[in-house]
Amino acid sequence: MLTDYHTHTERGPYTVEWLTQFLDKAKQGQIAEYGVSEHAYRFKQAASLLDNPWTRERRTEDLDQYFEMVQEARRAGHHVKFGIELDYVPGSEKELARFIESYPFDYIIGSVHWLGDFGFDLLEMKSQWENRDVEKTYSEYFSILTQMVESRLFDFVGHADVIKVFGYEPTNEAFLRSWYERMAETFARYDSVIEVSTAGLRKPVGKMYPAPDFLRACRAANVPILLNSDAHRPEDVGADYDIAIPYAKAAGYDTLTVFTQRERSTFPIG
Ligand SMILES: [Zn+2]
Ligand SMILES: [Zn+2]
Repeated sequence: MLTDYHTHTERGPYTVEWLTQFLDKAKQGQIAEYGVSEHAYRFKQAASLLDNPWTRERRTEDLDQYFEMVQEARRAGHHVKFGIELDYVPGSEKELARFIESYPFDYIIGSVHWLGDFGFDLLEMKSQWENRDVEKTYSEYFSILTQMVESRLFDFVGHADVIKVFGYEPTNEAFLRSWYERMAETFARYDSVIEVSTAGLRKPVGKMYPAPDFLRACRAANVPILLNSDAHRPEDVGADYDIAIPYAKAAGYDTLTVFTQRERSTFPIG
């Protein structure tokens, strides 16, 4: 069994024709469990969740159309899961809970992309990294990620160390190791699942999420995983799984988690 639950169709229309291109790629990659997970900030229905100048400009879509695309694909006989990628910002828990209840999602991805006004993975904000203390920024990121997991609102954690996206990484290995261990403990305590994502391979950092030591710490704490690409175009569905599968196995994993209507099950990898 292979999964790819973290994909975005946002560069095309919400039509089955467009979605079929993603589904075809999943089929080619023998990915039995495929799902879409659009960014919530794009939808008018999510306006109360994260409101800043950047999201306001991009809030142009209707979630009903997105859901309708998935339902239509199912009626046409496709197996496709209905997910969403939510931005976690501290203090938004009540609004998030209300939003999550309002659609029949198969799974909810919790991601941290914002440290206050700093969208740290956005190209247009990359220059801000130059004026930042890298360790402090990582600590802020992992602290918010901890609060996200403690909220218990999400089914799995998106790209757990995406903070390294542009290649700004602490040189102090003990600092990183300490965060990895604390995060792995937090994931375990709150019964979280994390994704092993190939997206970082297509970003300036050129590395898998999470880092090998981070993933090993998660394995040691018995934190379950699934495999995802974070594809934003059909050709990236299942991208680099020839790297990701041995990567997960090398960390000691032999199963993946699957979600249906927010219920988990577990299957052997491959
Ligand atoms: Zn993301
Ligand atoms: Zn994503």
